[in-house]
Amino acid sequence: MTAVQNSPAFTPDSDPLDVVRWALAAHPDVLMPSAFNLNGVVLLDLAVRAGYTGEVVFVDTGFHFPETLATRDRLAARYPELTFVTLNAGAHPDDGQTAPELHRTGPDACCAARKVQPLQAYLRQKQPSALLNARSRDQASTRADIPFVEAGARVKVNPLAHWTREQLETYASEHDLPVNPLYFDGFLSVGCWPCTRAVRPGEDARAGRWAGQGKTECGLWAGAGRL
Ligand code: SF4
Repeated sequence: MTAVQNSPAFTPDSDPLDVVRWALAAHPDVLMPSAFNLNGVVLLDLAVRAGYTGEVVFVDTGFHFPETLATRDRLAARYPELTFVTLNAGAHPDDGQTAPELHRTGPDACCAARKVQPLQAYLRQKQPSALLNARSRDQASTRADIPFVEAGARVKVNPLAHWTREQLETYASEHDLPVNPLYFDGFLSVGCWPCTRAVRPGEDARAGRWAGQGKTECGLWAGAGRL
């Protein structure tokens, strides 16, 4: 387990930019996985403002919406100081990585094969001591206790843990960030197209992920195989 190095006592009033700056100073080898949701786009912009010039790592599951891939490309054009890495680039539903319809019959196994394992393999190769992550507490009740800094196999730094969706939207609007257009159609959290629907009024931001399948996380940030 990687120890947390003298993490300051961040509070609900902490500026996310200060949390990112601490992450870059304490963990110069920090890496940033991203799926380019609203949270991720805001964190990416904050990271650049804090001086991050490393990699942004995205896993192509083969089931991404075209809008998500286009958002990645718009971000890559906007932030040339970053290196955008796409793992399993060009994956597609019939590539044989998983059985047909596994996303329906065994979504945990599908996520493990198409999302978690590729990223785990990459991280074993790169060996970063920490990851920048964009989760926030108000995305779902299961995320209500996310700390700013988590110990684990790698330290996870969550600068947006305390920000609300409204704060994220305001930041994105004020900085004219390239948000996935599906967001504005109610896809407040965008994953793979077979496993994502628009959110209904009153639902939390992640209610459209694996709806009706008894699953709330892909396994990257929770569960036995978490990063
Ligand atoms: S989100 Fe759905 S399609 Fe994507 S990897 Fe997980 S189960 Fe498979």
